[in-house]
Amino acid sequence: MAVERTCTVAVLGGGPAGVTLAVDLARSGIPVALVTVRRPGGRIEGLSDRVAAGLEAHGLEHARAAMGAMVRRRVAWGTPPEARNSEYVTARDAFNDALLADAEQAGVTVIRLGRGGPECERLPEGAGWRVACLPQAGAPCTLEARFLVEARGRAAPKPAAWVRRGPETTALVTEAEIPDTDSFTMVEAFGDGWAWSVAAGGRAVLQIFVDSAGGLPKRGGLEALFADCVKRLSQAGREIGSAGWTMPPQARNATPYLSRPLIADDAIRIGDAALAVDPLSGHGVFEALGSALAGAATVRTMLRAPKRSALARRFFTERAELAFMRYARVGRDFYRLCDAFADRPFWRARRDWPDGVPAHEAAGSGEARIVRRPVNCHGLIVERRVCVTPDQPRGIWMIDGVEIAALCDLLRDRQGEPAGAALEAARQALGVSPGALDTAIAWLGARRLLEPGERISLRPVASE
Ligand SMILES: Cc1cc2nc3c(=O)[nH]c(=O)nc-3n(C[C@H](O)[C@H](O)[C@H](O)COP(=O)(O)OP(=O)(O)OC[C@H]3O[C@@H](n4cnc5c(N)ncnc54)[C@H](O)[C@@H]3O)c2cc1C
Repeated sequence: MAVERTCTVAVLGGGPAGVTLAVDLARSGIPVALVTVRRPGGRIEGLSDRVAAGLEAHGLEHARAAMGAMVRRRVAWGTPPEARNSEYVTARDAFNDALLADAEQAGVTVIRLGRGGPECERLPEGAGWRVACLPQAGAPCTLEARFLVEARGRAAPKPAAWVRRGPETTALVTEAEIPDTDSFTMVEAFGDGWAWSVAAGGRAVLQIFVDSAGGLPKRGGLEALFADCVKRLSQAGREIGSAGWTMPPQARNATPYLSRPLIADDAIRIGDAALAVDPLSGHGVFEALGSALAGAATVRTMLRAPKRSALARRFFTERAELAFMRYARVGRDFYRLCDAFADRPFWRARRDWPDGVPAHEAAGSGEARIVRRPVNCHGLIVERRVCVTPDQPRGIWMIDGVEIAALCDLLRDRQGEPAGAALEAARQALGVSPGALDTAIAWLGARRLLEPGERISLRPVASE
C-alpha cells in the first residue's frame, strides 16, 4: 500500500536549482519534500567562482566541497590559444549527490526515485497537488503538497510555450582516458561551432557545440559528424577527440530558451526548467542558484503573505526575463568577438541573436527614475521605491544598506547647500555608517546623478 505523506512544498528535481530552493524554504520552517532521480552520466562541468561564493553564502557545504579542482582555462577564439580565467572542473554526479546531502541536513525530505518519474495531479478547487512516487527503496508513496516546484532542468515537461528560443544547438559529448596529461580546460572556435575540452585526473571530456536547426544524423552519422568536427580542432581537442572513447558521442540539447508561464497560483518553474542559458556563458549553475533563491522568496511570499502573491509573481517573472536577455546579449557579444568565422552559418545566427540592443548600458548614460517595484527583502517580496537607471533596469533599492530613493529625497531637499553638512544630515537621518553612505554616494556619482563639488548638486530624478 502507498505511504501517504504531506508537505507544504513538493520540489521535483534535485539539481542545484531544486536543492537550493528546498533548503532555503526548509530553513525558514516550511515543510519541503524533494523528489529526484539519479541519472549518472559522468558529466563534467566548469563552475565559476561565483558558484563557489553562492554555495558558501547559503551554507551548501557538501556541494561546495564537491566542486573539483580549479583549472586554468585556455581560449582559442579564432586566435592562437591564450590562458584566461580558471574554473572548477566538477563531476556533476558527485556534485548532485552532495547537494542532496545538504538538503537532508537542512531537514528536507528527500525521495530518491527508482525507474520512472513522479506522476503529478492537480487537485480540484485549488487544494494543491498529489505526487505519486516509486522510490528506489521502500514502498510507493504519495505526497500531498500545496505548492509544486518544477526543477527537473531540461528534462522537465515542455512548458506551454517558449517566450524565446535561441538558435537550436546540440552538444556532442564524449569521454576518453588520457593518462599523464596536465590538467587544462580549453574553449575553442571552429567554422561550424565551438568546443570545450577538459583533462583532469587522467580523464578527459570533449563537448562540441554545433547547430542542429536542420536536425542531426542518427547514431552512426553522429559519430561521423563528431569525427569531422574533431579534425578541425586544435591539438588538444584533437588529442581528446581521437583518443579511445570510453563512451561514444552523446547528443545533449544546449539551446537557450525562456519558458512560459513560469509561475501560477500553486506552481513555479525554476533553474533550467524556467530558462536555460547558452553553455558558452559558463554560468548555467550560477543562474540556477539565482533563480532558486528568487523562487524561494516568491513561494514563501505566496504562502505567508498571499495578498502579495501578484507582486511576488511579477518579481519572479521580471527577474527571469531580464536575466535571460542579459545572458543572451552577453553571449551574442562573445560570438561577435570571433571574426575568423563571421560569415559561417553557425556564427551568423548567433552573432545576431537575440537582437541588437547593447548587453550593458553604461552607468550614467541616460535618465533615472524613482518607481515602486517588487524587491526581495530578507526572503520575502515587498514593494519598495527603487532607482531605475539604464544600467539597472530592475532598479536599485539599497546600496550597502542605504535606501537610494530615500537618500535622493534627502539630498533634493538640500539642493545647493554645503555638501559636508548636508551629507552628514542625510547620514544621520538614514541611520547608516559613514562608509555605507560613501558607497551609496559613489553609486549616485558613477551615474552622474550627484555632481561632485562643495555644494549638493543632484540631477532631477523623476519620481512616481
Ligand atoms: C552541454 C552542456 C554543458 C554545460 N556546461 C556547463 C558548465 O560548464 N558550467 C555551468 O555552470 N553550466 C553548464 N551547463 C548548464 C548547467 O548544466 C545547468 O544550467 C544547471 O545544471 C541547471 O540546474 P538545474 O538544477 O535547473 O537542472 P539540472 O542540473 O539539470 O538538475 C535537474 C535534476 O532533476 C532530476 N530529474 C530529471 N528528471 C527527473 C524526473 N523525471 N523526476 C525527478 N527528478 C528528475 C535530475 O536527475 C537532476 O538531479 C551546461 C549545459 C549543457 C547542456
